[in-house]
Amino acid sequence: MKAEEHRPGTLYLVATPIGNLEDLTFRALRILQEVDLIAAEDTRYSRKLCNHYGIRTPLTSYFAHNEQEKGERLLQILAEGRSVALITDAGTPAISDPGYLLVRRCRDAGLPVAAVPGPSAVIAALSVAGLPSERFAFEGFLPAKSAARRKALRALQGEPRTTVFYEAPHRLAAALGDVVVELGPQRELAVARELTKVHEELFRGSAAAALAHFSQTERVKGEIVLLIGPAADTAPEETVEEALHRWRRDTDLPMRAIVKEVARQFNLPGSEVYRRSLQLKETEG
Ligand code: SAM
Repeated sequence: MKAEEHRPGTLYLVATPIGNLEDLTFRALRILQEVDLIAAEDTRYSRKLCNHYGIRTPLTSYFAHNEQEKGERLLQILAEGRSVALITDAGTPAISDPGYLLVRRCRDAGLPVAAVPGPSAVIAALSVAGLPSERFAFEGFLPAKSAARRKALRALQGEPRTTVFYEAPHRLAAALGDVVVELGPQRELAVARELTKVHEELFRGSAAAALAHFSQTERVKGEIVLLIGPAADTAPEETVEEALHRWRRDTDLPMRAIVKEVARQFNLPGSEVYRRSLQLKETEG
């Protein structure tokens, strides 16, 4: 399908690379070239991306501390029918980054807002971590102070989902120490460091092993995503019947497709799963 032409008066939330400059979509590139203005968290930083791609669109700043006044101005520009792309230093705007307030104001004013999706560290980390990812929780940055951090981690004692945090490199060892204390040395976790960059690293193992690994070097460097796996006793084995029920509840797929998925999950013949789905229907009345 051909991408739409860019529409006047639209705010585009454009995802930009989280490390590797090649991770900019064709559509993102076109929109950044076609809009009237790019609002960037740090114009000096974003100018490098623009120079790399030969984007000559004017840049203006939009960051946490000028969101209020700059938001007004951007709203006026959009209301006049000009289009604006919002970008941040890396990844998807409004995800632990400025953007949400401007989007809300545009929506309240009836101005069009469009997503131009692409990289986001939370999704990139989850996709490569090897932790359960069918559902997850994203908590943004872990608190910097130990007492608050420990409280946030304590809340995960019975958490059935993988929980994803952003963390600063100089706090990683302390955070892992707190995970050991609050969630036990055996809690499975992953640390994704420098995703898409030259020194990309993915560590997966117990909290104790992670602490030992990241305490080896005096100073952990780079950008970090910390993923805490589900509490072990919250993930009981699902039965075939429970899986059938879950697929029916959560999707609009026809029974044929559900049977196929569940058969694959349990490595069973489709006929067997189909028979059990009929039984289930009977018992449900
Ligand atoms: N909006 C961004 C997104 O969608 O990913 C996140 C912005 S947040 C201010 C920046 C944090 O994201 C970093 O401190 C780090 O925790 C994480 N991050 C960004 N790039 C990363 C990378 N290449 N590898 C690992 N973590 C990264």
